[in-house]
Amino acid sequence: MLVEQIWTGNAGRNFNYLIACAETGEALAVDPLDHEKCLAAAKAKGWAITQILNTHEHRDHTGGNAQMIAATGATLLAHAKAKDRIAGIDRGLAAGDTIKVGKTVELSCLDTPGHTMSHICVLARGDTPALFCGDTLFNAGAGNCHNGGHPNELYNTFAQQLDKLPDTTLVYPGHDYIARNLAFTLDREPDNAKANAMLPQMEQQDPARALVTTLGLEKEVNTFFRLTSPSVIRRLREAFPDLPEKPDAKTVFLKLRELRNKW
Ligand SMILES: [Zn+2]
Ligand SMILES: [Zn+2]
Repeated sequence: MLVEQIWTGNAGRNFNYLIACAETGEALAVDPLDHEKCLAAAKAKGWAITQILNTHEHRDHTGGNAQMIAATGATLLAHAKAKDRIAGIDRGLAAGDTIKVGKTVELSCLDTPGHTMSHICVLARGDTPALFCGDTLFNAGAGNCHNGGHPNELYNTFAQQLDKLPDTTLVYPGHDYIARNLAFTLDREPDNAKANAMLPQMEQQDPARALVTTLGLEKEVNTFFRLTSPSVIRRLREAFPDLPEKPDAKTVFLKLRELRNKW
C-alpha cells in the first residue's frame, strides 16, 4: 500500500490522502478537498484516482468531491447514514465493509460516531496497519462534537474501537493540529515528559512533511487516551472539585472534551 499525505495549507489545516495499489497504480482519495493538489500528486506518481472516500459529511472534507469526480469519474464512498448529507454517494458504507483499491490494498471500514454520527474511519491491516481517521482522532487530540456529534459516542469509539487497535498502527488524521493538541496535553498533564520533548519540535514542523504518529505514541501523548493517568486526574479534580478520587474513564474523557472545547 502506498500512501501520500497531502498538506492543503488552508486555514482549516486539512490533510488529504491518496492510498494507492503499488501493482496497478489505482488510487483512492480520502477527503480530497484540495482536488487540484490531489490530482497533481496522483499525476506525479502515475496513479489513477478511481474512488473517493469521505470520512464524514463536513464541507471541509466533501468540498472537492464534484471537481474530483468531474476530473476522474471516480466513485464516491461514504457512511451509508450520510446519504442525505453528502450528494452523490455511489456506495454507502457500514462497519466491517471492505474497500479494495487495485489488486493489493484492502481497507476495513470502522463505524466511528462521535465527531458526527455518520463518520467512517478506514483501517489497512497487515504488517504495518494504518488508520485514516478523519476528524475522530487527531495527533495528540480528539475531534470536537459540536457540529452533529456527541461526546458519549466519541468516548465509546475511542474505548471500544481505537483503543483496541495495535500500537504499531500509523495514524493519518484529517487535520494538522498536533502542536496545539500537545499544548493541551501539557496543560492537563504538565509532567508528561514525552509531550514536553515533542512540543518544541512540532511547533517547528513543516506540515508538508508531517510526523506520522502511531497509536502507541498517541497513548503516550494524547490526553484522550490517558484517562487513568494520576496527573490527569489530579489536575481534573482541580477544575471539577466534585469529581470522585477515582473517576471512571468515561467521566475523565467527557470532562477533558469539555475543557478542550473552551481551551
Ligand atoms: Zn469534521
Ligand atoms: Zn474537518
